[in-house]
Amino acid sequence: EFAIIEKIKEEINKKNVELLHLQFVDIEGILKHVTVTSEQLEDVVQGKIMFDGSSIKGFSPINKSDLYLQPDLTTFSVLPWTVEEGYSEARFLCSVKNPDGSWFEGDTRNVLKKTVERAADKGYTISVGPELEFFLFKTDENGYPTQELSDKAGYFEPSPKDLGERVRLEIYRALKAMGFIIEASHHEVAEGQHEINFKYADALGAADLSTTYKWVVKTIAKKYNLHATFMPKPVFGINGSGMHVNMSFFKGNENAFFDPADDLQLSNQAYQFIAGLLENVKSFTAVTNPLVNSYKRLVPGYEAPCYIAWSASNRSALIRIPAKKGMATRVELRCPDPSANPYLTFAVIAAAGLDGIEQELQVPFPINEDIFHMTEERRGELGIESLPGSLAAAVKELEDGEIGRKTLGNHVYDEFVAAKKSEWDSYRTAVHAWEIENYQAKF
Ligand code: GLU
Ligand code: MG
Ligand code: MG
Repeated sequence: EFAIIEKIKEEINKKNVELLHLQFVDIEGILKHVTVTSEQLEDVVQGKIMFDGSSIKGFSPINKSDLYLQPDLTTFSVLPWTVEEGYSEARFLCSVKNPDGSWFEGDTRNVLKKTVERAADKGYTISVGPELEFFLFKTDENGYPTQELSDKAGYFEPSPKDLGERVRLEIYRALKAMGFIIEASHHEVAEGQHEINFKYADALGAADLSTTYKWVVKTIAKKYNLHATFMPKPVFGINGSGMHVNMSFFKGNENAFFDPADDLQLSNQAYQFIAGLLENVKSFTAVTNPLVNSYKRLVPGYEAPCYIAWSASNRSALIRIPAKKGMATRVELRCPDPSANPYLTFAVIAAAGLDGIEQELQVPFPINEDIFHMTEERRGELGIESLPGSLAAAVKELEDGEIGRKTLGNHVYDEFVAAKKSEWDSYRTAVHAWEIENYQAKF
């Protein structure tokens, strides 16, 4: 700890850091921060910076509102885009504490730590590689997003059709300067859609990276008069944006999902992990796909899953086993979208997998046919069920299942369910453009 603090002080002096942003996320995974000066570093490190928890979504009631920020020192980074005339700004990601020094259970970063500990008790570290897709929209003269996409390019297309090359390059540079290891960057299938991939990390690290990535992408896009959105289905009729989650469990330095002797080179634990996901996915879909809009992405025909099945290669399946094996052996869950809180998302997926391993669940047969073009009858024969079709259905499944309360803890679970019910109610009672278009003139 002392050594890290010394390094941070050195960096602060060298880069002339004026301001420190203390960042954390609310229950939806939305980034918040309070800014202090770098002279306050001692207080920051000792967790003495306080804030009003009653103004943060899903946090505390007004009568118990004082909460404290405990920075995670490993997340210190100077913000590349703030460096000007020798001055700069830096940030820490923080966990939230109660006034008595205990961890605050409404903080979703703390929630994920609990699942990480549960895995550690079994001897596992959780490794996670998320893939977050996003859209770039043009902004108007006031800087607000318009409905106009930034380009008309498609999958892997280069310039001059891909108008996102320059902004992706700058995002890459910023992420790299902040310590990300970037593996690939490309135009995605839909117009105006992009993806930049970073190297996997342990579960908490990967959730921190996802949170930072979303912020950096939005911040750099803004400099180009673009609005980056992680909304799952911003445009009807073209692909939506996913946050595929690649996960594996390690035991020491060994990937516990790898078994060279097996047909698919998967270990028993890997099969049980997959079985755990299949068993629990309906109960946790509200967490991995938390918006009304999330369910407009989970429909047939757009590379997003809607049927509950697994396969070694099939992109229409919910769970896919990427070809890379050995240390890189992993299970890819394709339903999550980037509007989900990554801390909660990785927690419920790992918890479902752990359940599968603990209960030694049996995995069903893989489905290698294209499920999107299967008849309902055929799906019935094969026992292929569907993911929940709406936020309301997903919340019902969350309440009927056990994994939600068990993994999120009472505070986050209760706040989450209440927030999602009111979100659904607001949507359900609103009159949408579709209704006007289809009904107003006709009836
Ligand atoms: N955009 C697709 C989705 O909604 C995924 C495309 C891909 O396989 O990268 O999940
Ligand atoms: Mg993709
Ligand atoms: Mg993928």
